Amino acid sequence: MQLHEYQAKEILNSSKVPIPDGKVAKSGIEAKEIASSFGGNCVVKAQVHAGGRGKAGGIKLANNPDEASEHADNMIGSFLKTFQSGDTEFPINEVYIEEASSILKEYYLAVTMDFDFKCPVIIFSTEGGMNIEEVAEKYPDKIIKIHVDPLVGPSPYKIRNLISVFKFDKEISSQLYKIINQLYGIFISNDCTLIEINPLALVEGNNLVALDAKITIDDDALFRHKDLLKLFDEAQINKSELNAQKNDLAYIKLSGGEVGCMVNGAGLAMATMDITMKAGALPANFLDVGGSASEERIMEAYNIITSDADVKLILVNLFGGILRCDVAAKGIIEGFKKYNKSVPMVVVLRGTNSEEAKNILKESSMEIYFSDDLPSAAEEINKRLGK
Ligand code: GDP
Ligand code: MN
Repeated sequence: MQLHEYQAKEILNSSKVPIPDGKVAKSGIEAKEIASSFGGNCVVKAQVHAGGRGKAGGIKLANNPDEASEHADNMIGSFLKTFQSGDTEFPINEVYIEEASSILKEYYLAVTMDFDFKCPVIIFSTEGGMNIEEVAEKYPDKIIKIHVDPLVGPSPYKIRNLISVFKFDKEISSQLYKIINQLYGIFISNDCTLIEINPLALVEGNNLVALDAKITIDDDALFRHKDLLKLFDEAQINKSELNAQKNDLAYIKLSGGEVGCMVNGAGLAMATMDITMKAGALPANFLDVGGSASEERIMEAYNIITSDADVKLILVNLFGGILRCDVAAKGIIEGFKKYNKSVPMVVVLRGTNSEEAKNILKESSMEIYFSDDLPSAAEEINKRLGK
């Protein structure tokens, strides 16, 4: 689960990581008031679940309260698409008004999980700012990593080593040392998968300040962070994904595909997508209804897939075990009746009550092509899509 910048900064602030003064505004008028309280000079920042806002026009400097209000009015109610967000446009419902900082230098600091090393990793670069992706690609030696033994925490000597490489003066070294430890503490205590401060800015007066903050919480740990769960902004994820989340369906939209997939079990879902691609068609989504889906969940899954305008054909590949095939078939029929949407379907049903399920589906007026196995389903897909 991703947090907004302003929510992430509240967490930083409560752990005493230095941040500039700032407040959220929901309108131009509010933005103006907040900007006035900062003396006019401020930054107006779109609150969306995507990075790369600066380059996309989602970060604007204002020299006075009227300018802040104007930027806020322009942003609120509009959508932001950044180089990190793919095809998705994120709605801007709030802006963060932050007092302006005079930046001397921008650094990059993050804590995340290194799945190759199976432990947390602290990442630091002196080349922070909006081009960090380019730095990582062209000058990987400018990015330094410290792997952390989760049982011990970050070793002081490793952090000091990192700091000494860059020959910071004593004052900044001690600030950086403190911030790295604070971030690591936040990372662990909130079950984060990522905390990223980019830029960690050196501002006038020789102080390090977190100018931007991105925090992602591990979804599987949310059950023990009820307070954080409240921060989730539903508006930032698309309707189908939200619907899937609410119905316990593992759904991921894939761009460029035309075959909607309904499968039970993640392994089977992956194999189904592979076979679909091998047959020359692209899957439009990954959807695992789960091993023990109910009729109602299948009905919602049907709705989610048929709501996707890219889907020209649906491939249903179910293995009846705990989820019986007849239950799945009834769910599909219910979905068809309730949502009144129909897309041609290629269906492979095996396992418990598969014959019964086929009969249920045959009785409906839906356009369905039955296949006995996945390879013949792939041929059927090719035929139906005219490949
Ligand atoms: P991102 O593009 O979504 O990562 O948004 P950031 O919050 O990182 O802002 C992008 C860039 O805007 C930063 O790298 C800074 O260069 C600039 N910026 C942000 N806040 C300030 C500020 O208070 N003063 C100045 N001068 N620049 C800022
Ligand atoms: Mn940033």
